[in-house]
Amino acid sequence: MTLFRKKCLYCKKKIEKGKEIFRDVKTPGFIGTKEKAFCCEEHTESYEKEVEEHLKNSKSGGSCCG
Ligand SMILES: [Zn+2]
Repeated sequence: MTLFRKKCLYCKKKIEKGKEIFRDVKTPGFIGTKEKAFCCEEHTESYEKEVEEHLKNSKSGGSCCG
C-alpha cells in the first residue's frame, strides 16, 4: 500500500489509484517521449496539443516568456 498517488500532468489533480491513463508524451526540454499519467483521455490530448504549441512558439520566438 502506498499513499502516493499520481497526478494528472495536465490539470494536476490527483488520480484515483487504478484510474491512471498512461501515455508517452513529448516533454519540453527533453528529447523523445516519456510515460506520464493523466486523469482522462481528454487531458492526454489537451496536453499533447499544448506541448505542440509550446514547441512551435519556442522555435519562432526568441524569449522564453512573455
Ligand atoms: Zn486531468
